[in-house]
Amino acid sequence: MCNDRRSFSCNCGTLKGVLHDAAPANVCHLVCYCKDCRAFARHMGQAAQLEPGGGSPLVQVLPARIDITEGADRIACLRLSPKGLHRWYASCCNTPLANTVGSPRMPLAGMWRGLFEHTEVFGPVVTRGFTKHALRERGAPKRDKGILRMMSGLIGRAVPAWMSGTARQSPFFDDAGQPVTAPDVLELSVRNALYKD
Ligand SMILES: [Zn+2]
Ligand SMILES: [Zn+2]
Repeated sequence: MCNDRRSFSCNCGTLKGVLHDAAPANVCHLVCYCKDCRAFARHMGQAAQLEPGGGSPLVQVLPARIDITEGADRIACLRLSPKGLHRWYASCCNTPLANTVGSPRMPLAGMWRGLFEHTEVFGPVVTRGFTKHALRERGAPKRDKGILRMMSGLIGRAVPAWMSGTARQSPFFDDAGQPVTAPDVLELSVRNALYKD
């Protein structure tokens, strides 16, 4: 499995894993231009990996399809605000892993594309979201695209997962539905600095 095209790892290689079902039909390859994703990338020191316009490259997947094979003890979690998404990252080197809602009942994880060496397995970017929050710079997209496709993919993955009972499986939540590690919430002053565009 090690040199599998679906394998991923944090920047320093301590945390490793495999994404099963990485084919374009089973994932949504998207770029999110929302301020929260951008703030998180900045906080993790990954701003150089953002797409033109400040977009975060992500791959939406079913959490049950993510296997962390090494370094699971490095999984950490940050919330940009008390109501923010759970933003999981590898604490060894601050590589983002994925964002999720705060409960495993919603079977959706937006994985950080930079984890993967072979991004071609996901096919081209099909969705660009929150483009009205893109930075005004060269190469920034002017309008959203593929939102319906993203939503139908989300439902198309979630419904079978709910029916088959795999929806709650996730490397980020335990069997009781609790986060595997308690999330930190950013201090307001730190948070505010990240949102200065
Ligand atoms: Zn690492
Ligand atoms: Zn976002």
